[in-house]
Amino acid sequence: MDFPKTADVVIIGGGVMGASTAYHLALKGCENIVLLERDGLFGQEATGKCAGGIRYQFATEVNIRLSLLSLPMLHRFEAEMGQAIDLRRCGYLFLLTREEDVKTFHDSLVLQNRLGVTTEWLKGDEVRFRLPLMRLEDILGATWNPQVGLVDPIGVVQGYIAGAKRLGAKCLTDLEVMNIRLKKGCIQGVETKLGEIETPIVLNAAGPWAAQIGMMIGLSIPVVSLRRQIAVTTPIPWLPPDFPFIIDFTKNLYFHREGPGILTGMSNLNEPPSFIQQVDHEWELIHFDAAMARIPLLEDVGISSRWGGLYEVTPDAHPILGKVVEVKGFYCINCFSGHGFMHGPICGLLLAEEILEGKAHTLDITSLSLTRFREGKAIQEYNVV
Ligand SMILES: Cc1cc2nc3c(=O)[nH]c(=O)nc-3n(C[C@H](O)[C@H](O)[C@H](O)COP(=O)(O)OP(=O)(O)OC[C@H]3O[C@@H](n4cnc5c(N)ncnc54)[C@H](O)[C@@H]3O)c2cc1C
Repeated sequence: MDFPKTADVVIIGGGVMGASTAYHLALKGCENIVLLERDGLFGQEATGKCAGGIRYQFATEVNIRLSLLSLPMLHRFEAEMGQAIDLRRCGYLFLLTREEDVKTFHDSLVLQNRLGVTTEWLKGDEVRFRLPLMRLEDILGATWNPQVGLVDPIGVVQGYIAGAKRLGAKCLTDLEVMNIRLKKGCIQGVETKLGEIETPIVLNAAGPWAAQIGMMIGLSIPVVSLRRQIAVTTPIPWLPPDFPFIIDFTKNLYFHREGPGILTGMSNLNEPPSFIQQVDHEWELIHFDAAMARIPLLEDVGISSRWGGLYEVTPDAHPILGKVVEVKGFYCINCFSGHGFMHGPICGLLLAEEILEGKAHTLDITSLSLTRFREGKAIQEYNVV
């Protein structure tokens, strides 16, 4: 490998955020981009372990706008990037069982509709009619969007990495950034096992490890990493081909069709912050009980695969995007709080604008800056799973 000694921009992390930013920087003409991924392959951490869901059903304007910009990029992806991503518009449904959620989701549906998203309200009986395989006596209502669904995350990473490389970016695996060198508050370079790369600009795209990258320059990034786990069942002959992405909001439980089976996940809200990714078998029993209570026929199927991954969670469940005022040349694309994969395409473009043009202009991202926490301007997302 030809180890680069200098770069105009170094990107730390080769998940969806790093890959998308590398591609969009290169597309805008940035010539000397180096992306460093410590794993042997790109996209094997949060991105590769995610459920692949894409949706507009958020409660804050900025998250809905991120989806409005990002999802069309995924819809065009195969044609533009020449890479299959298995886009499935199976629809996305939030099931609600609490009166307070009915009110809150109704308000966010009004906001989504005002911004041009065609999310619909379903009454309890309509939900029961549409999903006869599920036990739904307690459902008060649901929000439903038929335009969205699922995408293959690894395909998206591969497409962006291949596109960035075609445009001249160097995207390297097996290279961990061990330290970042600073001089008088300005970025000077990054250190790896193969030596230093001099650069005036570093982008932190390290996903659940974002805080560790921040610590290299004495910067506190308020993110915790939380284990979340998934299981995929053996083939289910009775599963309809158009089975949607379904979230049981009260239980933080979800399902979608994965090949011939069902993928299901359930967030453990008592999970302590850590970098542990092994499957927690005690939690899995709780998860499967809840899953079988919703879909009784799951009692007759087996598990074909299971894995754990890490959410990167901020106190307000919004990402941290853009330049960091404390350190010249340091940028963040971090902390997507469990729903970041779908925003990878647009956030990569926004960061490319912020780095090369001084400010993101496709969408104003000032409300997502790191400073919002100390300025008391955090904004809470409610639709978190
Ligand atoms: C179980 C689960 C389900 C999810 N489901 C969904 C979903 O349905 N829809 C959705 O939109 N989002 C979902 N998410 C969230 C989504 O996966 C993340 O928000 C998103 O993938 C974050 O991308 P990233 O590039 O920031 O992080 P990552 O994909 O983790 O990439 C960061 C990379 O940085 C590398 N790295 C770290 N430190 C260093 C270093 N020092 N040097 C070099 N490289 C380094 C890591 O190896 C890693 O590859 C889910 C997450 C999980 C865990």
